[in-house]
Amino acid sequence: MQHFSGISASPGIAVGRLRVVDRRRSVVSEYLVSPEDVAHEISRLIHAINATRIELEAIKARLADSTGEDHLFFIETHLLILADERLVSETTETITSGLINAEGALRRTLLRYREIFAGIGDPYLRDRISDVETVIEKILCSMSGTTVEQLPQHESQIVIAAHDISPADMLQINREHVLAIVTEVGGRTSHTAILARAFGIPAVAGIEGIAHYLIDGAPVIVDGLAGVVIVNPDSETFTDYLTRKQQYEYAESELLKTAALPAVTVDGHTVHLRGNVEIPEEGASVLSHGGSGVGLYRTEMLFMNRSCMPDEEEQLRSYRAMLRAIAPHPLTIRTLDAGGDKLLDGIDHAVESNPALGVRAIRLSMSMPDDFMKQLRAILRVSAEGRVRVMFPMISGMEEVRIIKRMLEEAKRELAAANIPYDEGIQVGIMIEIPAAVTLADLLAREVDFFSVGTNDLIQYTLATDRSNEQLSYLYQPLHPAVLRSLRRIVQSAHSVGIQACLCGEMAGDPLYLPVLLGLGFDELSMGVGSLLRVKQILRRCSRERAARIAEGCFAFSTAADVETYLHQQIAADGIESCD
Ligand code: PEP
Ligand code: MG
Repeated sequence: MQHFSGISASPGIAVGRLRVVDRRRSVVSEYLVSPEDVAHEISRLIHAINATRIELEAIKARLADSTGEDHLFFIETHLLILADERLVSETTETITSGLINAEGALRRTLLRYREIFAGIGDPYLRDRISDVETVIEKILCSMSGTTVEQLPQHESQIVIAAHDISPADMLQINREHVLAIVTEVGGRTSHTAILARAFGIPAVAGIEGIAHYLIDGAPVIVDGLAGVVIVNPDSETFTDYLTRKQQYEYAESELLKTAALPAVTVDGHTVHLRGNVEIPEEGASVLSHGGSGVGLYRTEMLFMNRSCMPDEEEQLRSYRAMLRAIAPHPLTIRTLDAGGDKLLDGIDHAVESNPALGVRAIRLSMSMPDDFMKQLRAILRVSAEGRVRVMFPMISGMEEVRIIKRMLEEAKRELAAANIPYDEGIQVGIMIEIPAAVTLADLLAREVDFFSVGTNDLIQYTLATDRSNEQLSYLYQPLHPAVLRSLRRIVQSAHSVGIQACLCGEMAGDPLYLPVLLGLGFDELSMGVGSLLRVKQILRRCSRERAARIAEGCFAFSTAADVETYLHQQIAADGIESCD
């Protein structure tokens, strides 16, 4: 049994078979070489073995600092296989006597090892052939270049383990067959994690070495609630997790029964709890999970995994379907937030050394004015059919606000000239997710109808901490005093001119932060659909007045850890944390 701990990226418990997606599979071809080439082939072999050893030693050094003995044991085993003299001598012999290229000769060595291992009586030792295969695969990769392995589409009941899964990959995953995702990189607020939660697929991120040291087909438990992965569980652990899985699913189904209750505090204060949506199917589940509309529609998902951009009509159809699914509630459509980690095949993105600080979101839209106008027209057109708000991501200053407002007016003029209806008074909002926008919040507030705080990015930019970097997850602190001061300033700036302060980052979906966000005065919290019921349940136990005092109390502390301890104490004292 192997036990790994990582970052809880998407809740839920899954029990399935492991499917390691190593996107670096080798392509082996065997061919004859001339006697003069023998020395060259042997040197390629030795060089690849050395390169593999260096790679393994480097991983071992990294793991020694970050994880437990289990991983190290695997790497030690692989280093021992690599050091085996027979691996080199047998392969060299095949090259020399058979005049076979290095890759072909190494594959023949592997076939011989398979025969030998198949004859071993002890099942544990017999299974060690998989270690030999992994090592030889690595050497082959080093020698013959690599190809990208496709994500499995037809295998069922699998848990995918990979170094990384991009948001575009995530959208292509077969959601009926994939029970859970485990990755080496990533964090709780990475877009991949957000999508995993949207799909209801448990996920654990930040488990270094997992894609290299696990074996296809092994039974695996993924506990996305605790961020734990257990490979080859013993029967006691297996039974224990089956029970936990049932309990979790029962608690979720009980919560669903509370969906129709109003989102109101014990002292009668209403907070709009809305859903964040990425794909069309999510519209209906916002309502079934008790959300009152959509506070963030991430439209970029519509633009992914396709070679050309969706035209105005196609966008209109998608926005309309979403609006109808959540009617009569409002739909907040965010304009394209691509770039960064969300690359589009239909765009020739420049290679950037700092993608998170590069041509992303509104910057990308402004660099493609024709496409941007198409999106604005599609949003305006659907606004004639229901309650639609438009929202712009990654605003850094006043010039951008003025430009987008001009472009929106231009799009309105075009529609008016063509006699196409739209909502003349469509509400215009901006995302506050760059520290400059926080500093300028008082000025920006006069220009728009609402603010929506993107805490995922606001935290990453305020603390200079990449939201997808699992090694920095300890620095990614929603309760950091600098973040809390920013949130307070944003709400005050919005309310001082009478506009709404909304928040649609992942912070909105974490019950621990609810008293703070309620106490700071946010009017709307928009979150992943899976968080709506739990947050509403806690909200209904809170008092707005008490939350305001709790929020005020947070500012007495100078570190995130102290704020967190204080918060836990206050919540425990009020008895509002329990979810049953
Ligand atoms: C955010 O940054 O908090 C946000 C809601 O937007 P995204 O996660 O899509 O960047
Ligand atoms: Mg953002």
